[in-house]
This record gives sequence, structure tokens and C-alpha cells, in this order.
Amino acid sequence: MDLQGIESLLGVSSPWVITDTQIHTQNLEIDVYIDFERGSKFPCPNCGTICSVHDSNFVRVRHLDLFEYRCYLNIKVPRTNCDKDGIKTTHIDKWSRKGSHYSFKFEALFIRLIREMSVLAISRELGEPDNNLWRSFRYHVKNKTIYSFDFNTVTRVCVDETAIKRGHNYVSIFTDYDTGHVLFVADGRKKEVFDLFYGWLWDNNGHPGNIELFSMDMSKSYKAGQREYFPHSEVVFDRFHIKKCLNKAINDVRNAEVKDVESLKKTKYMWLKNEKNLTTTQQEKLSEFILESSTNTAHAYLLKNSFDQLWCVQSHAIIPLMDSWIETALSLTLKPITKFINTIYDHYNGIIMSIKTGVTNAISEGLNSVMQLARTRARGYRNPQNFIDMIYFLGNPE
Ligand SMILES: [Zn+2]
Repeated sequence: MDLQGIESLLGVSSPWVITDTQIHTQNLEIDVYIDFERGSKFPCPNCGTICSVHDSNFVRVRHLDLFEYRCYLNIKVPRTNCDKDGIKTTHIDKWSRKGSHYSFKFEALFIRLIREMSVLAISRELGEPDNNLWRSFRYHVKNKTIYSFDFNTVTRVCVDETAIKRGHNYVSIFTDYDTGHVLFVADGRKKEVFDLFYGWLWDNNGHPGNIELFSMDMSKSYKAGQREYFPHSEVVFDRFHIKKCLNKAINDVRNAEVKDVESLKKTKYMWLKNEKNLTTTQQEKLSEFILESSTNTAHAYLLKNSFDQLWCVQSHAIIPLMDSWIETALSLTLKPITKFINTIYDHYNGIIMSIKTGVTNAISEGLNSVMQLARTRARGYRNPQNFIDMIYFLGNPE
């Protein structure tokens, strides 16, 4: 094989030379040997002084395939002999990064492929152990994805929890409300995730004091975490989460009533869905219930609509209107509704802030599809960190 041809293909130039290639036809591999010219000198990795070479080792890294052959670069790595530091192993950063099993080009190929297929599938396709690929991926996410943020500009943050697998192994995801960037992903959903986020900001040149607002669900642990670690910030409870609680109350009212009122059977979604998403038959049925006004469920339903209207009112009118809504709601004396009102009292300021600011976690709604994709791409991941890295990667398009 023409060594000079391969030299130009690989961008090998003085002091580097290709001294040999070996083709292993049986296992379809090519080894390319890259050496340095005799008498070459290299900087000491400690102090940078140009030193003579003491001895050397070969480092073997996987490169892009050559035809159907897996290609490996065997790069001669010199150990320098420095007057001050003694004998030191250098690293040649022309083809691969230190400690990597792969050349830069191979790594770039692998990272491109992750956008298209799972790490497990890539591992099979390229014939590389998946834990080596995950390690390489980790490096990429840490140094390319996360490093490219300016954490200092972040002021409003959405926090969401999501299950790695259905129903268990939760992670908490901190997203920048203004850009939609996934800022931080923590294992678990306890209050300590706020402590970790606090440390994460410091470690990445951000400033916890810059965070003005957290948008979150009404979980006790998030509330406690925010209060403890970011006491200066405001809390906004996510409108859709509040709505979900009220929907649950409406459904509980219906469940309690359905035994006595035959016509309420099989109407669950009619009361919960957005009116404009109902079929004509459902709309007619709903109007009938409302006109009749004889069921608790219909009364509770109207309350739900007027609660929703609160998000359209002027700032100064929010509190009086909220208080009068609560008064009307209490007068119905329905247990599930009273329970919901207690939830309002427990989260009063954050709910008022939701109406005032209009901030919701909707920006991180896109996270649902990211999570869906992350579950597919990270299929067979060996530890939660791999999955977390996948969320950073997919949640922050480059
Ligand atoms: Zn030195």
C-alpha cells in the first residue's frame, strides 16, 4: 500500500511519518503505524521545555473504517527527558484526546449517530463495547454541551420530575425558562436536588443569587428545597399542575355522585377535557347537565371554568377574585373541593404568582418528547448518569 497516500488522507506530516500498515484479512482490520522522525524533540508536558525523547510507547485508537476494514491508528507516544521534571509521558493531541479509545473523527461519527440511533445499536453496528462509547459520550456532554452554557444569565428556572422507567427512578430536570436549555439534571426528586443545583451553578460560573424565580409543581420536597437553598427567589406553581389537582377534585365529586345519578356514568372525560375538544354529542350532554343544574358534578364543573378565568384578570383584581372564588367554592360544601381549597391555602403565594406572571412549565413540555427519545437512545444504559447525559445531549441541540 502507498504509505504517502495514506499520510495525506490522515493529515500526517513532519515530524510524523507512517512507517507501516498491516492488513489483517481474517478479522478485517488495518493497523496504521504513525511514528516520529528520528531526533525529533517534544515539549515536556509539565513545563513545556523542548526535550529529547527518552523512549516511547504505541497508543492504539480506533479510526474511521477504510472500506470494510476497521482501521486502527498506532501512534507512537514519546516520553520526554526533561532536566527539571525527569521522564514524562506526553500526549499527542493531533489524532485523539488523552485516554480515549477513539480518534477525534471516530468520536465525531459516534456522536452524530446518537442523534439517529441508540447507543446499544451503535455498539453493535461499530463493534465497540457500549461502556467505552458511554464514556466517550460522557466526555462530549461534559465538555461540549454543558460547557457551552452561560449559567450566569439564568434567572428563571422550571423544575420538573420525570421517571427514567415508568413509575420509578426519578430524575429532576432544571430548565432555563427563557431559552428552554436543560441546565441541570439530578438523580432523585428530594429537596436535596436544589442543594445540588446550587452547587452546580457555582461550579459552572453561574450565580445562585441570580435566580429570581422557580416554576414547579406543588410537591412538598421541591417547595422545601427552594425555601432552604434559594430563599430569595419566588415560587410559581405550574398552572397545569394546579389544574390537574382541580380536575382530580371534579372527578372525585363525580365518583361520589355516580352511584345515585345514572346519567353520570361514562362521562369522566366530558368533565375533564377542554370544552372545545368535546364531540358534538358530548357538548350537548354537557349543556343539558349545566341547564338542569341538579348535580354536584355540574356545579363543580362551573367552578373549574371560573377558576380558569382567574388567569385572565388584571393584576390588582387577582386576590379579591380569588377570595370570592374560594367563598363560592366553599359554599358548595363538597369534600373534594374543600380539599382543593386547602391546597390553595397551602400554596397561596405561588398560585397568585402563577396568575400574575403567566410563567408555566410549558416550556419544558418539550421535555416530554426529549425524555421519550432519551429512553430510546439510552436503552440498556448501565447507570443513571448515562441516562442523565442523554437528557443533556438531546435537550440541548447543538
Ligand atoms: Zn519539564
